[in-house]
Amino acid sequence: MTINTQKLALQALAGHGHVKPRPDGVRARCGGPAICRVCQQEKAQLEMSQRMDQALHPLDGQHINQGSVDAAAEAYERDFLQAKIDAQSAEIARLRNMAWTNGDILKESQAETVKLRAELAHLRAVLSQALMALEGYLPSHRNDVTDRAIAVARAALSGESNG
Ligand SMILES: [Zn+2]
Repeated sequence: MTINTQKLALQALAGHGHVKPRPDGVRARCGGPAICRVCQQEKAQLEMSQRMDQALHPLDGQHINQGSVDAAAEAYERDFLQAKIDAQSAEIARLRNMAWTNGDILKESQAETVKLRAELAHLRAVLSQALMALEGYLPSHRNDVTDRAIAVARAALSGESNG
C-alpha cells in the first residue's frame, strides 16, 4: 500500500465530512446528505447513535432517560406480541380450515346415514310383505325351506326395536 492509497482508505473510513467533520477538514464534493447516499447513511447512523445515547446515558448525571428506555422496551414488546399474534392467527386459520373440512365430512356421513336408514326401512317393508305372503298365501305348500324362510324373516323383523 502506498502512502496515497493509505490516505484514500483513511478518508473513506472518515466519511464525506458533511455530517461529521473530518479530522483533516476535508468535505467530499458529493452534494451532502440531500443527494448523497453515503452522507445519508452517515446521517442515519449519527441520529441512531444520538438516540441510543439519549436513552442510555445520564442526561443529568444521575438518571438514564427512563422515557426513551421505556419507549424502546414497549416497541420491542409490541413487536414481540405482534409476532405472537400473527403466529396464533395462522394457527386459528389452520384449525378453522380443519374444522370446516371435518364439518363437511360429518355432513356427508350424516347424509349417508339418512340414506341408509331410508333403505333399511324400505327393506323391512319389503320383507314384511314377503313374510305375509309366505304365511298367508302358501299355507298348504309349506315345507322346510319356507318354514326356515318364515323363521328367519320373523327374527330379522323382530330385531327392528334394537336397530
Ligand atoms: Zn457524501
